[in-house]
Amino acid sequence: AQKRYASIRETPTVTKDGERINLVMNAGLMADLPSLKTSGAEGVGLFRTELQFLIRNQMPKRSELVAQYKRVLDSADGKRVVFRTLDIGSDKVLPYMKHVAEPNPALGWRAIRVGLDKRGVMRMQLQALLRAADGRPLTVMFPFVAQADEYREARWEVNKTLEREKRLGHVLPETLEVGAMLETPSLAFAPQKFFDEVDFISIGGNDLKQFFFAADRENELVRRRYDTLNVSFLSLIERIVERCGISDTPLSFCGEDAGRPIEALCLAAMGIRTLSMRPASIGPVKSLLLRSNLQDVRKIIADARHRGEQSVRPAIMEYLRDNG
Ligand code: PEP
Ligand code: MG
Repeated sequence: AQKRYASIRETPTVTKDGERINLVMNAGLMADLPSLKTSGAEGVGLFRTELQFLIRNQMPKRSELVAQYKRVLDSADGKRVVFRTLDIGSDKVLPYMKHVAEPNPALGWRAIRVGLDKRGVMRMQLQALLRAADGRPLTVMFPFVAQADEYREARWEVNKTLEREKRLGHVLPETLEVGAMLETPSLAFAPQKFFDEVDFISIGGNDLKQFFFAADRENELVRRRYDTLNVSFLSLIERIVERCGISDTPLSFCGEDAGRPIEALCLAAMGIRTLSMRPASIGPVKSLLLRSNLQDVRKIIADARHRGEQSVRPAIMEYLRDNG
């Protein structure tokens, strides 16, 4: 499939009406890294660090993490890599960490909640990231932030770790960005001040959608029931775009929907400028964006919403049928 899109691999993603969209990739294992070159991704928008913890049978040492993160940055060769801190709990259980049985793990002790309660693990990972950067730019993001203070506490840990590293005589990153994943509807309704504080926001669409529609993303009986292009969900996206716009906060989207061409087209039309997806999706998404006029798509979305339709998908499909 990648061969089919080879001719547009180096083409910047600019829509017919001149809007520039950044297509970046999701990764998590060393084996994913060669895709940075072959897919045409402009960077790594989501590096899921937990995968390297999940494939082992004991807690990795800090020095091992440093070596791994260094390799990731080396192979990115100056392209931006967004390291997501450990996103464990829910469906991702570390075999070597004490497991607490929870009635609703998806709503339970997971991601940043674990990090804030187990500061030792969070610090070790932050330290490893800072050391791996070794004077290069570093981008870190915290998963599953549900309210502003969780981000603030995590950021406080980042600053503390930075100070400690400096005292120990380590080279600090050239620049450091600290972002939050917006994966629970609550964060879209945080005070505007939060959007001023955060360096960037990345929408974790898989979780956001699961919690918005109250439909388990792992449950075959319900997981396909609700459309991402449902106007209610698009209203939430619109709100997030607006809030980030007011604070001039960079916004990206990194759930599976970013890699589905029609969904990606609508997200771009709604104002999301960076889409992070599995490498094999870059070609198909780029191909559609290059042929599209976001102005038109925006109009179709607005009209369908105005008519009171449940989803904008039928209208978009019709438009795409009529316009090649
Ligand atoms: C998401 O929730 O959309 C996301 C990107 O994170 P994960 O799929 O790893 O939960
Ligand atoms: Mg998630």
